[in-house]
Amino acid sequence: MNTSWLVETHGDPLGILQNTIKAIWEQLDLDAFMFAANGSSKPRLFTEWQQVGEINPFKPLMTQNTAKHVPEAIENFPDGRIGVLLKPCEMRALIKKGERENIPLDRLLTICADCLGTYPLEDYQWRADRKGNPERLAWESLHFARQGGIASYRFRSACQSCRTPVAQEANLNFGVIGLPVRRKILVQSQDPQVIDRLGGALPLSENDQTLMEQRDIIISKILQRGSQTRQRLGDSLESILPKDLEALMLQFEQCGECRECFNNCPLCTADYPAKDEHGSYLREDVKEWMVSCAGCGMCEQACPNHLPLVTIFSMIREQLIQSIQPTC
Ligand code: SF4
Ligand code: SF4
Ligand code: SF4
Repeated sequence: MNTSWLVETHGDPLGILQNTIKAIWEQLDLDAFMFAANGSSKPRLFTEWQQVGEINPFKPLMTQNTAKHVPEAIENFPDGRIGVLLKPCEMRALIKKGERENIPLDRLLTICADCLGTYPLEDYQWRADRKGNPERLAWESLHFARQGGIASYRFRSACQSCRTPVAQEANLNFGVIGLPVRRKILVQSQDPQVIDRLGGALPLSENDQTLMEQRDIIISKILQRGSQTRQRLGDSLESILPKDLEALMLQFEQCGECRECFNNCPLCTADYPAKDEHGSYLREDVKEWMVSCAGCGMCEQACPNHLPLVTIFSMIREQLIQSIQPTC
């Protein structure tokens, strides 16, 4: 059952989000919560709900994919239930990682908020210094949520070409895109436990069909913009990019022992993708990796050769998906 609530924010959408997370953290008696706190670049595990004030999913920065750190959180709390705050691309990565590595995702309470885009780290720091307070960058993003964000050409290329910035796959999802966030945000869940606990606790607003239709229109415009950007980036780099899986495998061989893209990808582990006895990456592993790619861009951010990996991987992923789709 998918349940959605339009919730009154009274000018403080972040406060509503934090209070909702606090309520669910307490009521489900979570043992720990993983999120990238303000001022921290790496997601960390917190055990006290008082730290909920450090949560801000609208901060336009992502330096590591939280999904990569989830196995370590589960290891730290082998019998507990853990909350995890993720961006939509991290949520996609976690689902794929869970399938491939057999991670017990039912031990997690996943929480996701619509994403309004993120800057490369240096750009973020420069902007945060200019504003004097990094919090103001998050407010700037939220301020334009109704129009679908600021569509900055300074965002990471992964964000400019994002396939799914909408929160919809977690146990608890917060929607801001297309909405007047100073008045209302969307809270959505398919988890009976969450629905049961939150149903009576949220400051509900009247249902507003027009607003929801407006949100759908803005979302489809963002998706269209992402698709056009992927096409444009692919076209502009066509003559220099590896164009298919074979060319990509050759590229990895030329990269030697670097592996920075592997090390920073939430889907890769120390021995994945594996190599054969001749030292070449296994084609099936690389293929599976590309098909599962969540488009988060952490690989590109880490590449010392500044290869446009988001564009390369996205093109190859689309080819592979088309080749495995059944023909009628
Ligand atoms: S890739 Fe999409 S979901 Fe991920 S940070 Fe960028 S805009 Fe957000
Ligand atoms: S390959 Fe790159 S874009 Fe894809 S999930 Fe891994 S780090 Fe993210
Ligand atoms: S990070 Fe860049 S240079 Fe290193 S292996 Fe990946 S593609 Fe090659």
